[in-house]
Amino acid sequence: MSDDCIFCQIVAGEIPSHTVYEDDDVFAFLDVNPLAPGHTLVIPKGHHERLNDLPDDTAENLYAAIHDLIPAVEAAVDAPASNVGFNNGAESGQEVPHVHGHVIPRFADDGGSPIHAVGGTAPDLEDEELAAIADDVAAARS
Ligand code: AMP
Ligand code: ZN
Repeated sequence: MSDDCIFCQIVAGEIPSHTVYEDDDVFAFLDVNPLAPGHTLVIPKGHHERLNDLPDDTAENLYAAIHDLIPAVEAAVDAPASNVGFNNGAESGQEVPHVHGHVIPRFADDGGSPIHAVGGTAPDLEDEELAAIADDVAAARS
């Protein structure tokens, strides 16, 4: 636990939340400023700042909980769809530095945008540049 982390304090019960799920490794609760009814945050109980920092077993348990919660959240608010995503690092818009996945129910004509809207100005990359980037990603895997 990180003493000054708001999500660690929620896991510890020191800050109240509308809890929707809890197991040994994972905690899920409603976002206090929801973008839609049912907007849910799914977090590892341990304090890890970014997805990149998660141990493999924690990553697996986190995604298993998200996989389980997506249809439950949609059903609870009668949503036909959802956006599921992580802000991963400050430059991406992550404000709370404790890994959290957003499950945001979506409705027809709700005025929202697809996840593509998160990007900045789109680069105009040639096919060779795409190939080089793909090679670099493959080489960078550990
Ligand atoms: P992010 O910008 O991805 O870091 O998102 C942080 C999210 O945490 C925002 O959607 C906030 O509304 C939400 N949030 C902040 N404090 C609380 C809290 N005490 N309980 C529930 N959600 C919170
Ligand atoms: Zn934390």
